[in-house]
Amino acid sequence: MQRPHRRLAKRLALAAGLLLAPVVVAHGRVWLDDGAPSESVGSPGEGRLRHGHPIPPSGPGHVTYSYLGASLGRQYVHGAVRDVLLEAFAARAAERPGRRFVVGEAGWPRGGPFWPHRSHENGLSVDIFVPLRDSAGRPADVPTYPWNQLGYGVELDAAGRRGDLTLDFDDLARLLSALEEKARSKRLRIQRILIAPEYVPLLLASPAGRELGALSRAIVRVPVWWRHDEHVHIDFALGAR
Ligand SMILES: [Zn+2]
Repeated sequence: MQRPHRRLAKRLALAAGLLLAPVVVAHGRVWLDDGAPSESVGSPGEGRLRHGHPIPPSGPGHVTYSYLGASLGRQYVHGAVRDVLLEAFAARAAERPGRRFVVGEAGWPRGGPFWPHRSHENGLSVDIFVPLRDSAGRPADVPTYPWNQLGYGVELDAAGRRGDLTLDFDDLARLLSALEEKARSKRLRIQRILIAPEYVPLLLASPAGRELGALSRAIVRVPVWWRHDEHVHIDFALGAR
């Protein structure tokens, strides 16, 4: 169960972010993709990014959490991370028609502090909303609307349920495996996965979760500042595992 003050802090943080968004737009930032190879500097918690590339707002197997967020420049990553994401989403959608992943916040084109997040600074971090399924087993998404803080205000219970929707732990594990596989081919690795600690045993007990192997060691099993029930946070790192 999430403590009330935590839930309130979570909602306040995103509500404030939404209010500030027009201010950023008013400053007239226009983000471009220069096509040059990316360079990550520092760490996810304190770093920056050169030649960041935007994640396309939609494509095979994925869609953005917010076209506004994307147009504000909040979905930039290292080019290799972008390629890994796109390849993994497309592979999952090809294997399970109807499944798509909702991509959340990633980072600024030049990295650096990314309020209200505590990382996402060097282009190697991304939030992905958890895959859901309905009572008939069909793929479903976390809804991302302004009135639910673009999805970040959605609360799932300790078993990953929300009404008649349930977190599809097996599909999530399959995505993590696909990301790791695609990352390896680009000399990247998954360094850290944040998900609500109560979900870790459920994830690892799913059919695909039992096959995660060494990747399961990247899953953080203690509470962090944000309850990662509606999304997983992933930090990639440069260099093979
Ligand atoms: Zn995150």
